[in-house]
Amino acid sequence: MIYDCIIIGAGVSGVFAALNLKSDKILLLDKQRGLEKLAVTGRTRCNITNSLSFNEFFEAYGKNGRFLQDAFRLFFRDQLLLFLKSIGIETINENDRIRIINATSGQFSKLLLSLLREKQIEFHQFESAVDVRKNSFFEVKTGKSIYQSRTLLLTCGGLSYPKTGSTGDGYRFARSFGHEITELSAYESAFYSDCDFSHIEGVSLKNVKLMLKLEKASKRITGDLIFTHFGISGPAILKLSEADFDRAMLVIELIGMNEAEFIRFIREKSGKLTNSVSAIIPKRLAQFIITENRSCKEISNSSLRKLFSGLKHFTINIKKCPVEQAFVTKGGVSLKNINSKTLESKLVGGLFFAGEMLDIQGSIGGFNLQAAFSTGYLASHSLNKKLLNN
Ligand SMILES: Cc1cc2nc3c(=O)[nH]c(=O)nc-3n(C[C@H](O)[C@H](O)[C@H](O)COP(=O)(O)OP(=O)(O)OC[C@H]3O[C@@H](n4cnc5c(N)ncnc54)[C@H](O)[C@@H]3O)c2cc1C
Repeated sequence: MIYDCIIIGAGVSGVFAALNLKSDKILLLDKQRGLEKLAVTGRTRCNITNSLSFNEFFEAYGKNGRFLQDAFRLFFRDQLLLFLKSIGIETINENDRIRIINATSGQFSKLLLSLLREKQIEFHQFESAVDVRKNSFFEVKTGKSIYQSRTLLLTCGGLSYPKTGSTGDGYRFARSFGHEITELSAYESAFYSDCDFSHIEGVSLKNVKLMLKLEKASKRITGDLIFTHFGISGPAILKLSEADFDRAMLVIELIGMNEAEFIRFIREKSGKLTNSVSAIIPKRLAQFIITENRSCKEISNSSLRKLFSGLKHFTINIKKCPVEQAFVTKGGVSLKNINSKTLESKLVGGLFFAGEMLDIQGSIGGFNLQAAFSTGYLASHSLNKKLLNN
């Protein structure tokens, strides 16, 4: 049998493309269960898209954002929300982030997999593509068989969270067809620190001012973070990790008051320093920072000034986590040889790409899933046209 289309990778982009293909001769392959990354995406707080305007939306993807213009013209947030509603998924807008409220991301992924069964799409789980080539037809070799197809859609994801199946095979396949892969690195990752944070693991800070000091520039942001056993994470950290760097210094402003206010505040207290500082920052953090727990009355002004400086500019050396631990892979299949109107390769007719394996990465807040749905949809739309005309 010669399939009309083989899709390698049942992540959001591959599954959504499969659901929107009109042919009944489709084969969807996944080396694992499929949609495993979606299942861990945000879990109970899965940001599925964002309420920013059409033009602002592109900025969230950096310099390559405009490539998504055609995909978004065809299938954007409103269409995604309509689709979600049609399958019973409800969402809420929280500070521009649109997130699912009546299902965990695990339940959502099960629901999407059930739609594949309903549509009777031939879906081979736990069958990994090991080699792809094109002769008269595309040939996809797996551990079990060799399949032939008129077109091929690669939706193999990036390098992050390899346990979910995205181990970078798609880049190898793309390269074998002559496509260039841009540099791959971590995007939206936690930071390692050389400090031992085991005593403050789980301590979180809300709306805190942060400054990332890079070699030639600095980036400022206000947001939430959490100390972990290996370093520091949380929404503000993921946002800062979008900058290009490997190692840097992170300055956390732990207190809002100025030096005079802080000294006055401490002088008005009679107990131990740690107890007083715990009124401003979490107690475990105060205990971590204050090594000499003297009485507020006894401590000298110069020691208080030093403590103030440590709280105002709590500075740690940080390092980005490797790409495997990042939420998203930066870089991917270069866009220069892909037609943005169809997502078809400019080098090999009938070869299409969608999802995170493209050199497009969005900020936190639902941009990556919207891109996966939109590019999956555009690929299916183009494939439907191509298959009809041939
Ligand atoms: C912890 C976490 C939280 C996230 N939170 C958010 C969020 O809140 N909002 C948001 O927008 N984005 C979020 N993301 C990013 C988002 O989940 C991904 O960008 C998106 O799911 C990528 O979809 P995809 O279809 O391109 O690839 P993937 O979902 O990675 O799918 C690729 C599929 O290809 C399969 N595959 C790979 N190689 C082969 C092969 N050789 N043969 C067969 N199958 C193969 C894999 O098994 C996998 O199922 C998060 C990511 C993580 C890890």
